[in-house]
Amino acid sequence: MGITIDNVSKSFGTFQAVKQVDLEIASGSLVALLGPSGSGKSTLLRLIAGLEMPDTGRILLTGKDATYQSVQERNIGFVFQHYALFKHMTVRQNVAFGLELRKVPAAKIKARVEELLDLVQLAGLGDRYPSQLSGGQRQRVALARALAVEPKVLLLDEPFGALDAKVRKELRAWLRHLHDDVHVTTVFVTHDQEEAMEVADQIVVMNKGQVEQVGTPAEIYDHPASPFVMSFIGPVN
Ligand code: ADP
Ligand code: MG
Repeated sequence: MGITIDNVSKSFGTFQAVKQVDLEIASGSLVALLGPSGSGKSTLLRLIAGLEMPDTGRILLTGKDATYQSVQERNIGFVFQHYALFKHMTVRQNVAFGLELRKVPAAKIKARVEELLDLVQLAGLGDRYPSQLSGGQRQRVALARALAVEPKVLLLDEPFGALDAKVRKELRAWLRHLHDDVHVTTVFVTHDQEEAMEVADQIVVMNKGQVEQVGTPAEIYDHPASPFVMSFIGPVN
């Protein structure tokens, strides 16, 4: 599902967190929202999700105005940095949760959960509890749970931010592979330029609530559109 963000602004009190953003996200793409802390990345993601309402502008999903649609109507899956799994449920029960809410028949749920556990490379761990998993495995359960209901869009807010560098690196590669398999339109937030470069098809560089530049990793690296982008993307570390 393609996403169009048309002149969207959002303030909290007198502070404008997102300023007149125009953005096209192509169906099936893997897009990074990249910028420093406080640049409005999470707010923009929450606007796409329907967790926040814009003050001005519109959000279109597949060309259709979704500005006033509820989260459920938008058919979107999420994973956040500290996405709490249900601690008292097994991996399998966590993944099945959204399907049970939707009253999917038990046999179908069973098959779908096994398929998802395969997809996130956790086959065989379905009976474990979250406390018996590593941080990286837990985030993969969270991804399987988000994918269970076949969302049209997947939104990830710093999904690997809380993990150590080695696991983060593994999960980046893995997210890339997952996307190649599933092809769901995916928007992920990161403040880590290396992560955006390595994973995304398109990078949206944000600064102070505005979009500074949109392009492929190579375009942004080779032709930064502003001193800000140059300083943020440059080979600094
Ligand atoms: P990022 O994800 O890029 O770090 P955010 O979108 O979370 O940025 O926040 C952008 C700015 O908006 C920050 O200065 C933040 O303090 C402010 N902000 C975000 N959400 C709220 C809120 N619910 N109430 C007040 N201010 C908020
Ligand atoms: Mg954020």
